[in-house]
Amino acid sequence: MGTDPRRGTIVKVSGPLVVAEGIAEARMYDVVRVSEGKLVGEIIELHGDRAYIQVYEETGGLGPGEPVWTTAAPLSVTLGPGLIQSIYDGIQRPLDVVRQRVGDYIARGVDVPGLDPEKKWEFVPTVKEGTEVRGGDIIGKVQETNVVEHRILVPLGAAGKVVSIRAGSFTIAEPVAHLDGSGVRHEIRMAQTWPVRRPRPYRRKLAPDEPMTTGQRVIDTFFPVGKGGTACVPGPFGSGKTVVQHQLAKWADADIIVYVGCGERGNEMADVLLEFPELEDPRTGEPLMRRTVLIANTSNMPVAAREASVYTGITIGEYFRDMGYNVALMADSTSRWAEAMREISGRLEEMPGEEGYPAYLGTRVAEFYERAGKVICEGSGEKIGTLSVVGAVSPPGGDLSDPVVQATLRVVKVFWSLEDQLAYRRHFPAISWLNSYSLYTENLQEHFRTKVAEDFVTLEAEAMRLLQQEAELQEIVRLIGVDSLSPSDRLILETSRSIREDFLHQNAFHEVDTYASMDKQCRMLRVILAMHAAASRALEAGVSIQEIQRLPVRESIAQMKYTGEKEREKISGIAETIEAQIGELLKEKSRA
Ligand code: ADP
Repeated sequence: MGTDPRRGTIVKVSGPLVVAEGIAEARMYDVVRVSEGKLVGEIIELHGDRAYIQVYEETGGLGPGEPVWTTAAPLSVTLGPGLIQSIYDGIQRPLDVVRQRVGDYIARGVDVPGLDPEKKWEFVPTVKEGTEVRGGDIIGKVQETNVVEHRILVPLGAAGKVVSIRAGSFTIAEPVAHLDGSGVRHEIRMAQTWPVRRPRPYRRKLAPDEPMTTGQRVIDTFFPVGKGGTACVPGPFGSGKTVVQHQLAKWADADIIVYVGCGERGNEMADVLLEFPELEDPRTGEPLMRRTVLIANTSNMPVAAREASVYTGITIGEYFRDMGYNVALMADSTSRWAEAMREISGRLEEMPGEEGYPAYLGTRVAEFYERAGKVICEGSGEKIGTLSVVGAVSPPGGDLSDPVVQATLRVVKVFWSLEDQLAYRRHFPAISWLNSYSLYTENLQEHFRTKVAEDFVTLEAEAMRLLQQEAELQEIVRLIGVDSLSPSDRLILETSRSIREDFLHQNAFHEVDTYASMDKQCRMLRVILAMHAAASRALEAGVSIQEIQRLPVRESIAQMKYTGEKEREKISGIAETIEAQIGELLKEKSRA
């Protein structure tokens, strides 16, 4: 034993938790390398001389007596060109590079940089020498992929006058600019590091007032999430959480997608890894990966790595937000992260809270979602960026009283309730229109009125009212049968069935139906409600509900969802057909 203040010795190994003594310079949340194998871990608790280390790699074979070293630095990510299209593990090791180096299973202790240190990027300055800049300001750009322009930010904390800046081809380690901050010289490179557990600061948070559209009708029309907002999708196994997350990753109206996969089942994450690089962005025709960062934790990776992956993902999201982008982060599934917390907490012998989860579960979950937001970014000017976060939760048996669901619902503003009853009936997306909610609706109304259509908010409210009336009427039908209902009540059932089947039901795997623009959604809703209004008039004139049900226009309504975006204006033409066919019925009635 020497006097190395950074070195200590393992005294105990308990699964992913290693206890070490004798690290003089041990600090909370610093990264340590464990054993001669240099496994990566993080100090998560300190009691006097004892450091409790959460290890992000398999600890099999480790034992007391082996050395550990602190790196004296917190767990950090490297932020710069090269992030997009990467597939990382929880501690920002690119999976493809690791695989090339050591084969299919991630070997322990491998050191691979998060960003390629040799790759050259074309740097284009956007400020001139002599400009005063400060942390968060954009000083240049790099065309990272053909859809993402990577904006190079002055690192937070640095400020001064640009004394030199040069265009050209550089690696992320080479300086591209120098600042003079009253005598202090700063070298600016294209990459910077940031400790993952510390939220990146911003100047001010704003209320999300623009929707992050997803092309999914039940979401955009009834339960929208604002750009910079938070949402959660809990649901039992097989109810469609993964399909929802994938649909968002494909269609969400965001510049950058960060997808954090916390191994639900090993092969499912493998699906994402294989499928994602192949997927095409339907809008640009480019591979979706060109705006995506994937962070993958398959279930064969140690549990502690799940925690790291959540923090790594959100930090990358904040970084792109700071460039003034709209970023969407998907985490699937946060339950796996919570289980990792539970396991580590158990090994620390902490006092357990509900169902064995640590008492700080709620705080951790809240801290994570609070990193979402629409913000005025650091720097001069009014650069606005958003980071929206959607987390899937997979409670055992779909039970919503699960502590992870409850902790999540306390912080998120949108709840998409997936229900197995709907999934059994093959109503997809199986998002319940009765139990879900969005607390953004009010803040988004102005946007919907001015950017979608003046009547959109009214249409939405009317459709929702019909769906709620349907639920009440169904109770009555169950008790005394449908014949007891008045014709107008039967029409409510008829229209709400149409809202469910012709509007809410949306097939993620259908070429056209997979995505609907807000304009198409609005037109569809308008037609369904026009049918309702015309049918109400007909009923009053004595037309029977059966006659209305038999109208051929019903088929056109059912086909609306398969009308391509380019032809969506044709949908509105159905309203005229409705008028004509109902008009016929009325004429027949008056003749009779
Ligand atoms: P979970 O992740 O909740 O276990 P999945 O997302 O894997 O569930 O969904 C289970 C199955 O449900 C899918 O394989 C698919 O067949 C069906 N499904 C879910 N959502 C949709 C949708 N929007 N359109 C069509 N089928 C869907």
